Amino acid sequence: MTTLNSKVPKGPIKDKWTTYKENVDLVNPANKRNIDIIVVGTGLAGGSAAASLAELGYNVKAFAYQDSPRRAHSIAAQGGINAAKNYQNDGDSNYRLFYDTVKGGDYRSREANVFRLAEVSGAIIDQCVAQGVPFARDYGGLLDNRSFGGVLVSRTFYAKGQTGQQLLLGCYSAMNRQIARGKIEMFNRHEMLDVVKVDGKARGIIARDLISGEIERHSAHAVVIATGGYGNVYFLSTNAMGSNATAAWKVHKKGAYFANPCMTQIHPTCIPRSGDYQSKLTLMSESLRNDGRIWVPAKIEDAKAIQEGKLKPTALAEEDRDYYLERRYPAYGNLVPRDVASRAAKERCDAGYGVNATGEAVYLDFAAAIFRYGSEQAKIKGMDNASKEEIIKLGEAVIEAKYGNLFQMYEKIIAENPYKTPMMIYPATHYTMGGVWVDYNLMTTVDGLYCIGEANFSDHGANRLGASALMQGLADGYFVLPYTIGDYLADDIRTGKIPTDSKEFDEAEKEIKEKLEFFINNKGTHSVDYFHKKLGLVMWNKVGMARNEKHLKEAIKEIQDIREDFWKNVKVPGDLNEMNVELEKAGRVADFLELGELFALDALNRNESCGGHFREEYVTEDGEALRDDKNYAYVSAWEYTGKPSEAILHKEELEFKDIELKTRSYK
Ligand SMILES: Cc1cc2nc3c(=O)[nH]c(=O)nc-3n(C[C@H](O)[C@H](O)[C@H](O)COP(=O)(O)OP(=O)(O)OC[C@H]3O[C@@H](n4cnc5c(N)ncnc54)[C@H](O)[C@@H]3O)c2cc1C
Repeated sequence: MTTLNSKVPKGPIKDKWTTYKENVDLVNPANKRNIDIIVVGTGLAGGSAAASLAELGYNVKAFAYQDSPRRAHSIAAQGGINAAKNYQNDGDSNYRLFYDTVKGGDYRSREANVFRLAEVSGAIIDQCVAQGVPFARDYGGLLDNRSFGGVLVSRTFYAKGQTGQQLLLGCYSAMNRQIARGKIEMFNRHEMLDVVKVDGKARGIIARDLISGEIERHSAHAVVIATGGYGNVYFLSTNAMGSNATAAWKVHKKGAYFANPCMTQIHPTCIPRSGDYQSKLTLMSESLRNDGRIWVPAKIEDAKAIQEGKLKPTALAEEDRDYYLERRYPAYGNLVPRDVASRAAKERCDAGYGVNATGEAVYLDFAAAIFRYGSEQAKIKGMDNASKEEIIKLGEAVIEAKYGNLFQMYEKIIAENPYKTPMMIYPATHYTMGGVWVDYNLMTTVDGLYCIGEANFSDHGANRLGASALMQGLADGYFVLPYTIGDYLADDIRTGKIPTDSKEFDEAEKEIKEKLEFFINNKGTHSVDYFHKKLGLVMWNKVGMARNEKHLKEAIKEIQDIREDFWKNVKVPGDLNEMNVELEKAGRVADFLELGELFALDALNRNESCGGHFREEYVTEDGEALRDDKNYAYVSAWEYTGKPSEAILHKEELEFKDIELKTRSYK
């Protein structure tokens, strides 16, 4: 085992990034024209990186498996993006954002990166406003803010419930400018299937044209992976169905260490699962917790009656409801971080107090907010004798203006009006804090190979606070990578074009073609989804919201068995040289089947509970996560050696010089 060098600059935390920027090597504008960069993924992280690098003068080749960068999974982001602008004058600052993020991540993130993230957060908002992103505004014309979990200020900028979509349109317009100038060559409907290393450096990729099936070679002086998270290892998640780990896993197999794979976020406010034939889960944004109150029946007999459809939630009196988050965490109430809220929901449901026919749901209730807003509106409008109905109508209009599209989505899926009856929610897999290990430069353990956005192990430690993924992806792409990559490329100004007719490209292409041919020729008995669902069940039941040693050991064995069965019995219809969605899925599920095992191994290694990683053996007396800072204050970075079970663990010891390590409390 080696100790990893995170390359964090020396000096006080507040000066690190400034000093770094003042001292990095630069590439002069004329030389940038001779340098090629591949960016794989054009969601918010990759799209912002591609646009910024092209604007700087590099030649960028960008890849996405969708038919347009506008369809990246980032478009799904609903609630907002954090920045420490302190427009609310409620005490926010860069330091507070930094502090909240490190604490929210249960002290398992790298301080220097998080501080830099907070430092550049304000610039992200300015950049997006300049691009025309229509953030919500308050009555005075300033950008409005709302709150997300784990903080006591309002620092989340939003565009109704469609923040990701609007940010992505801004980013896409910046990309399009460069596509039109010829500085970005955009390869839509292309899937990266491997990275190519020459003399130890990342020098290109092998990609498949998903329309024609053709295998292509692309070279560059550096490669950036921005391919999103791996939540779909659970099969059911709030991620887009195409979200996958293939690029991240392939670079791992070529030498990039994979960090903290077990750190996954289970989001508390998702629409509950409805049955066995469901293909994905839907998020109800955390922003709803600004106004929604979470509760379950206080009496077990009421919970049973609701489960059996004999009692309506609206019939339950106030004193018969248990607002368990407000009860357990008076300081943060319904805005505790996601890991805490998810576990609390599971605890109530496991104890029998859940609602829905399955008993796996809790209520998110807007009645109080509707009445509060309605009363305020009635006052503003001078309606002194407004009736209850009038107040409710006015209040519903306010709620609709804030969250209308989310309410509409809920009604379409559940066929119940959430203005009139509380929403039902339950935790679901949502985000992966783990990912490809990167140093302060965002470079992986392979020279010239970078990883940004959700695909890297990121700044969120063991639990991500809401609205901070967009912040991190855009910080990486707009403001961090453009500096750090130049420092590396300054040595490449005389290298010239990287040829693709080398043995390294030959070998990588051959291996890919053989695997694709295997899938088509195997003629097995079960579909790809059959195996993916089996994997997902093991992951959810044994490597999900609560984990223990026995289950994790069983999971590792079960995943190995599913993988063996997959390679014997998978059936992929269709052909190689055509659009073949089943073939695409087969490759992705093959990678999930390996990643899932490493995930369970990592969870087994971490004998503590922290953030989203909850080990049932390590719990405080009042049921909270019990961290072990003495033995586990490190990032686990796994090196691939041929089998996931034989991966070698490397540790990046985490240093906390600017924040005191404390037991996380939201009480
Ligand atoms: C429903 C939902 C709501 C969310 N809401 C919020 C929110 O309000 N605020 C917040 O901060 N975060 C939110 N998040 C999290 C956030 O949206 C994501 O973490 C973030 O958008 C990820 O951005 P990304 O650029 O890293 O990846 P993505 O947006 O997933 O983009 C991945 C890109 O990689 C490409 N790609 C993938 N694999 C390959 C391959 N092998 N070859 C070629 N291309 C490939 C894809 O085509 C795509 O262009 C939400 C997440 C979900 C699921």
